[in-house]
Amino acid sequence: MTHSTFSSCRSAAVGAQLAEKGPLVDGYGRVLDYLRISVTDRCNLRCRYCMTEEGVPPLPHEAILSYEEIAQVARAAARRGVKKLRITGGEPLVRREIETLVRMLAAIEGIIDLAMTTNGILLERLASALAAAGLRRVNVSVDTVDPRRFAEITRGGDIRKLFAGIDAARSAGLHPVKLNCVATEYSTPSDLAGVKAYAASEKLDVRFIRQMHLPSGAFSAVEGGGGGDCPRCNRLRLSSDGLLRPCLFSDLGFSVRELGAEEALRRATAGKPRAGTRCTSHPMHRIGG
Ligand code: SF4
Repeated sequence: MTHSTFSSCRSAAVGAQLAEKGPLVDGYGRVLDYLRISVTDRCNLRCRYCMTEEGVPPLPHEAILSYEEIAQVARAAARRGVKKLRITGGEPLVRREIETLVRMLAAIEGIIDLAMTTNGILLERLASALAAAGLRRVNVSVDTVDPRRFAEITRGGDIRKLFAGIDAARSAGLHPVKLNCVATEYSTPSDLAGVKAYAASEKLDVRFIRQMHLPSGAFSAVEGGGGGDCPRCNRLRLSSDGLLRPCLFSDLGFSVRELGAEEALRRATAGKPRAGTRCTSHPMHRIGG
């Protein structure tokens, strides 16, 4: 859903929001200075609340933005006052030479924060290359610290790789390392208590995220984070298939390939809804949460 939806939003947000220059300010006065970038819809885990066992047919290669295309959007966003970038997926570390993209994004003038959300499984191998390329910090998904439960929830994940990844991230100087714990129908009280205790013993920040459900619009504010706080939302998202999305819980998306980065940014800003409703056009692993 792209251009046509734009015209209906125009009536809601006329004037400065469509400005050609200056910061991206939406129709509700929110300054959008944070861009989340999904670089792939693929993942090396099969978390029960996110994917089916057999996984989902990935997007064809040519549908996925190249690193140069992603950097072009990020540069255009930085020219419009975006200061913070977060790399997400699917699982971003499964994309080959991801450190190349990190280096391109870290070199952009005006970007003061470059973060990544990862499941940590490949972090032990890549942490120092990511840090050397300019990554500042990581959020690692940890829904339980019990090895058997971890394998159950992720359908086969090895928790030792996750812990080794967290250690490698800290040794590489990525700071802070934060934990994202999704509380889902599969979570047990001891899963959540275990993550809390682990975070305390390791002196790591942990954010508890109640499971979101895009099609039904079920979501709540992230404990310890900024997500789900619509009145103060400063986010735009770039999906792995090149749509600039003003809101996670909306079907609005503006193609950077069709419109160009600047125009897609302008339209996404103008079209940003006051609050999220639901999203039926994209699954979470294609938007990156
Ligand atoms: S639902 Fe939309 S407006 Fe609300 S916090 Fe999420 S992205 Fe922002």
